[in-house]
Amino acid sequence: MNAPLIDPFARAITYLRVSVTDRCDFRCVYCMSENMTFLPKKELLTLEELDRMCSTFVGLGVQKLRITGGEPLVRRDIMTFFNGMTRHLESGALKELTLTTNGSQLERFADQLYAAGVRRVNISLDTLDEQKFADITRWGRLPQVLRGVDAAQKAGLRVKINAVALKGFNEEELPTITAWCAERDMDLTWIEVMPMGDLGNEDRLGQYWSLKDVRARYADHYTVSDLAERTGGPARYVRLEETGQKIGFITPLSHNFCESCNRVRLTCTGEIYLCLGQEDMADLRSPLRASPTDNGPLEDAIRAAINLKPKGHDFDYSRQKLDGQMPRHMSHTGG
Ligand code: SAM
Ligand code: SF4
Repeated sequence: MNAPLIDPFARAITYLRVSVTDRCDFRCVYCMSENMTFLPKKELLTLEELDRMCSTFVGLGVQKLRITGGEPLVRRDIMTFFNGMTRHLESGALKELTLTTNGSQLERFADQLYAAGVRRVNISLDTLDEQKFADITRWGRLPQVLRGVDAAQKAGLRVKINAVALKGFNEEELPTITAWCAERDMDLTWIEVMPMGDLGNEDRLGQYWSLKDVRARYADHYTVSDLAERTGGPARYVRLEETGQKIGFITPLSHNFCESCNRVRLTCTGEIYLCLGQEDMADLRSPLRASPTDNGPLEDAIRAAINLKPKGHDFDYSRQKLDGQMPRHMSHTGG
């Protein structure tokens, strides 16, 4: 049995988020510019390499895999990868295989994902207004995503909706979105907009809607109780007493959650990022490709990378400027 991955701050790394493509069928304004340039295909890990990479992490004690992107379900033959991971669920080494998706392809894939052992899915959806949805995603169409949500639930997948909180955009929809999730027995998490990627013409400070304000908005409509539950990540939870709903708040900017961080991120090109808000990274593709049959060099490279995991990040909106801003796109590191 291999020694588990423990970082310099004594945090056990048990959660790997994997971006399987930087491509997407949407162009959400806070995530990508309309004319994004994508990586040449040869830069990407092949599906076999992704399998080997993830399997090595599982061998080193990773128990949860979240597949993301870009849009993970637009990667060609992605079900081959999911089906490959099923063996780690069956062996008990992997406790959870899940994904974050924009929902556009779920109508097609929900049943297959369930069959592969996926039980929960996060679907990103910021508005239930068809025109606003088209505006924020630029290329997305709401009815297609709603059919995806239906298909996921019908397949037996537990759905959590992730909504980016955007001032002046979905503020007024808070009760509608909340009620819609309650009716369908779906969890809901609000995410603060983060200063990722090329800001271009988008005014991130103007869009920034503090989740403290979102929570206060809930208190106008419901009795809100704080829950102690943490997942090692940036989410905090409250319960709405009237509906029994659990609402999450992902506040990477206004709270320090780093002390319990259990996760690292793998990009679609095989770079490992140790913190969403820092540049610390290492290349795992070279050691992977250097010895196609021996995982030793890859394991050494993973351990060396984990030793670089920083204590925390420096995002800060509090001084009305974007301190700690990252040049990277979320679609590169995986949200
Ligand atoms: N395409 C998939 C999706 O949209 O769910 C997975 C990848 S996407 C990069 C993952 C998450 O990151 C989505 O929930 C998206 O809303 C969020 N995201 C993207 N850019 C963001 C930003 N600048 N600030 C906060 N969240 C962001
Ligand atoms: Fe695509 Fe997800 Fe980024 Fe939207 S947030 S552009 S769906 S990767």
